[in-house]
Amino acid sequence: MAPFKVELISLDAFPDAPDVDEDRHTLEGNAIKKACELHILTGLPTLADDTGLEVMALDGAPGVRSARFAGEEADDAANRTLLLERLQGADDRRARFRTIIALCTATGTHTFEGICPGTIIREERGGHGFGYDPLFQPEGHDLTFAEMAEQVKNAISHRGRALQTLARTFDLAMLGSAPSESAP
Ligand code: IMP
Repeated sequence: MAPFKVELISLDAFPDAPDVDEDRHTLEGNAIKKACELHILTGLPTLADDTGLEVMALDGAPGVRSARFAGEEADDAANRTLLLERLQGADDRRARFRTIIALCTATGTHTFEGICPGTIIREERGGHGFGYDPLFQPEGHDLTFAEMAEQVKNAISHRGRALQTLARTFDLAMLGSAPSESAP
């Protein structure tokens, strides 16, 4: 079998690329929109992702609005404060991060999902990471994402898992199976 090599080129290599507005109502919609717009611009197979924090007691919010939970101009700290306010007194603190990676090529679009289940703790802990990391304790771990070394977080995170699914699907494709939509 011929060796299979992929060269990853970051968006920095396309300084004229526009900022794609994340205005769709789903993570899938935003990831596909970004990947396809940039595929049209570059002519290359293109990967793009979108991530949301889905809190069970809030019916899946903030979800696709995670970056703007506390308002259009909100920063991470404001979003975390609002999350704690909304969960005040809540016993059910189950949540999950979900990432969708979209791959847009000349022959079609595929999506790959990564999920990291966990809980929202009652007070922030840890100084690493970004976003909701100081409030999110992944299932089976005593540390929050913000207390973990980056490599540990990457190995179990929603984004890491979506990438692992993508890589597995590529391996299968090279062995003769077709890529699947949202492989498990
Ligand atoms: P994006 O799709 O990666 O831009 O993520 C949207 C928002 O979700 C971010 O602004 C963060 O608030 C939150 N988020 C995404 N990934 C993570 C993560 O790994 N840890 C904490 N928050 C995250």
